[in-house]
Amino acid sequence: MAELHQTPSSLCCCRKSLPVPRAQSAGGSERAPAGPEPRARRRPQVDVASASNFSCFQLHHFHLDLWLNFAAKEMSGCLVLDLVPVQLGISTLVLDSHPSLLIHSINCKTPEEDGHTEPVSLTYRVDPFTDYGSGLSISLPDTKPGKKIQITVRYTTTDGPAIWWLDPELTCGGARPLVFTQGHSVCNRSLFPCFDTPAVKSTYTAAVRVPDGVTVLMSASQSWFSEQDRVFHFSMDFPVPSYLVALVAGELEHEDVGPRSRVWAEPCLLAAAAKQLDGGLERWLAVAEKLFGPYLWGRCDIVFLPPAFPIVAMENPCLTFIIASILESSDFLLIDVIHEIAHGWFGNAVTNATWEEMWLSEGLATYAQRRITTQAYGEAFTCLETVVRLDALHRQLRLLGDNNPVSKLQVQFEPGVNPSTLMNLFTYEKGFCFVSYLSELSGDVKRFDRFLKDYISEFQFQSVGAQDLIEFFLRYFPELQAAAVTTREGMEFDRWLSGCGAPPFEPDLSAGGALIGPVQDLCDVWRCADPPTPQTLSAHDLSGWSTFQVVLFLDRMLDQTPLPRDVMASFSRSYSPLFDVLNAEVQIRWLQMVVRNTFYPELPRVRAFLQKHTSRMYTVPLYEDLVTGVMKCVAVEVFYQTQRRLHPNLRRTLQQILFQTGLVPTNQSCPPLPGTPFSPPGSSQPTVPAATTTAAGKTAAMALLDVNVSA
Ligand SMILES: [Zn+2]
Repeated sequence: MAELHQTPSSLCCCRKSLPVPRAQSAGGSERAPAGPEPRARRRPQVDVASASNFSCFQLHHFHLDLWLNFAAKEMSGCLVLDLVPVQLGISTLVLDSHPSLLIHSINCKTPEEDGHTEPVSLTYRVDPFTDYGSGLSISLPDTKPGKKIQITVRYTTTDGPAIWWLDPELTCGGARPLVFTQGHSVCNRSLFPCFDTPAVKSTYTAAVRVPDGVTVLMSASQSWFSEQDRVFHFSMDFPVPSYLVALVAGELEHEDVGPRSRVWAEPCLLAAAAKQLDGGLERWLAVAEKLFGPYLWGRCDIVFLPPAFPIVAMENPCLTFIIASILESSDFLLIDVIHEIAHGWFGNAVTNATWEEMWLSEGLATYAQRRITTQAYGEAFTCLETVVRLDALHRQLRLLGDNNPVSKLQVQFEPGVNPSTLMNLFTYEKGFCFVSYLSELSGDVKRFDRFLKDYISEFQFQSVGAQDLIEFFLRYFPELQAAAVTTREGMEFDRWLSGCGAPPFEPDLSAGGALIGPVQDLCDVWRCADPPTPQTLSAHDLSGWSTFQVVLFLDRMLDQTPLPRDVMASFSRSYSPLFDVLNAEVQIRWLQMVVRNTFYPELPRVRAFLQKHTSRMYTVPLYEDLVTGVMKCVAVEVFYQTQRRLHPNLRRTLQQILFQTGLVPTNQSCPPLPGTPFSPPGSSQPTVPAATTTAAGKTAAMALLDVNVSA
């Protein structure tokens, strides 16, 4: 996710009409071999993370009409739902809502009743549900299955977890305020009352009114601006789940970087952002289309958001949000953007029906991302990036132990557990390994590409469960079904989905050997008790290494920390000047080495880094390391110097880290980890999530929140 800016007039007509979703197909692809007819997919009847009775209705469409008040930090307006009851005798509509959302009135129209179109006022009540939402129960007039009803909810919403109001000093330009929303996983119930479950998809339209000088963008396939009344109009013509509805408004400008892609950013960032992505988006889209079939969403725009954006990137359809802090680390930017592009197929077109199977989105998107980078940048590059991430996965496993339920692909939520807290590295990397195993079983990676293309064609714009994927896989490859691959010893699909611990299979990454070998060789040089000689070091020149090589080197050195004092001094002399001019992904790892080794000569660099960076991704890991040692006073001092430039949510997080206050943000909760996660550089020990058992005996797996930075 990101925020961008542009002149209002240039928004008009920038997004073209798109064909109707159902008319699209992944033409030209190899079809599944004949087999048993697919069973009609049943929508899940219950989502433990939703208070709504979504299974009683079909949601055809909804419309949002909003007025944004930056001074009051309020959005107000109305929501119009077009619903069709699917059962007899439905007398109540229950929507997900949030305490930060104030309902003013609710009424109902039944457009299909002859001449009876006057709205009827409805009674409602708000019931507690969990600490991340409430239930809005609306008493309905007589309904009939199949007969459409239109519900209008007038409301105001302020500072709920979905909505991030930034004062001007928190933007890159510093001149105007900005607001963005972040729906994943269950936050959008604080933006508008909804069926807040990934099982329900619908089209939507929106009209947004803002003050002069503000541009609004949404995750929509079409947009236009009405100059006369200063209203931004949006239409998402393809069905999406509630969590993919996203909005950003501020001083945003744009530059086209491809035939269906433009970059949006604050004016001060735009040139640099557009330069980084010029031509790249179309290139990656073309590779992805060749592998997985047509890109279904029309536009593929990107908006860069200020450092207050709580995650790295979010795959909002038609408009990826991404943090501007990643701009200086171009290899990471590339991976992050390609990952979000892959979600256009995996996650957005075909969505996990419940949050308990998030790996269906993230594991498949990560696999697809790596197929794209293999085609675009070669196998060696892709293997290197994969090794960095799988190293992180194993680092987490060492910290968590083999029996921690956090490491399961398929989780079972206890009521009240926020799904966002279960987003973790396993969702991505163990999911990736399982998809890689399916690819291995198919016998040929290109054959598996065709399978994935047909999977998208089969399920596009639907929400599915793991069982849908597996049944389709076994129908597609009947020889594997005949060979009973699902129960192969040690590789049982049940073990993959429900088992704890390491992935039973990892793909062969030896193609990355030429890039990874020198990194490990240099790690071995530094593993000795004595500093290496200049002659030894001269044989290992890392000045020509790629970012991912340096990152892998530092991650593995962090694994060896603490180092003997003279070794650390030699390491600093050898590399500090080089790291100092490299990007933030390298620098934060180097500075973590400094802190974990309590190496005072480099302390000024730690201080300077924390004074410069105000994003969660580049502050939390360092603060967590600092508080565990004697350098804590430096952390406190820098925090007081910089806190005014930090978003209040990050400020609260850092206060908790520094002062162990136990303060838990109420409305503006700590951010979930959607989209591209923070990936661990180094063996960050501290806030490692652990599965805990509450007093009530419920298993509440805690997240790998703040385990460090980007993908
Ligand atoms: Zn993702």
